[in-house]
Amino acid sequence: MFCAILAGETEAEVVLDEPSYVGFLDVRPLFPGHVLVVPREHVDTLPDLPAELRDGFLEAVQRVCRAVVDGLGAQGSFVAMNNVVSQSVPHLHCHVAPRTKGDGLRGFFWPRTTYAEGEAAEVGDRLRAALAPPGA
Ligand SMILES: [Zn+2]
Repeated sequence: MFCAILAGETEAEVVLDEPSYVGFLDVRPLFPGHVLVVPREHVDTLPDLPAELRDGFLEAVQRVCRAVVDGLGAQGSFVAMNNVVSQSVPHLHCHVAPRTKGDGLRGFFWPRTTYAEGEAAEVGDRLRAALAPPGA
């Protein structure tokens, strides 16, 4: 679906059109101005993004974050990426949604939970053991 947008086969309101990255409006926005930033090269998820595209991708996201403030009068933004679960389209996309205090968004980050006694340390151990070193 996003590859079709990138190929010009599907209509989209494109706001950023550059050799390696494209940004367009989400058709079902959290708020008007909710942009999806994608790499032109098809990759499924963030872990699949090649190293040479990482910095430019984040830089494009930064510029969109500034644009929703400067261009739309938002106070800030919410930035998120779903990988596999809740990822409606299997082409990496970063959501940039304009935010303004009192806009009612509770975020993607709930319902929230708490850790049982000792659980945080156990989860921490599992993550530390699985975490690859930088550059791996
Ligand atoms: Zn694609």
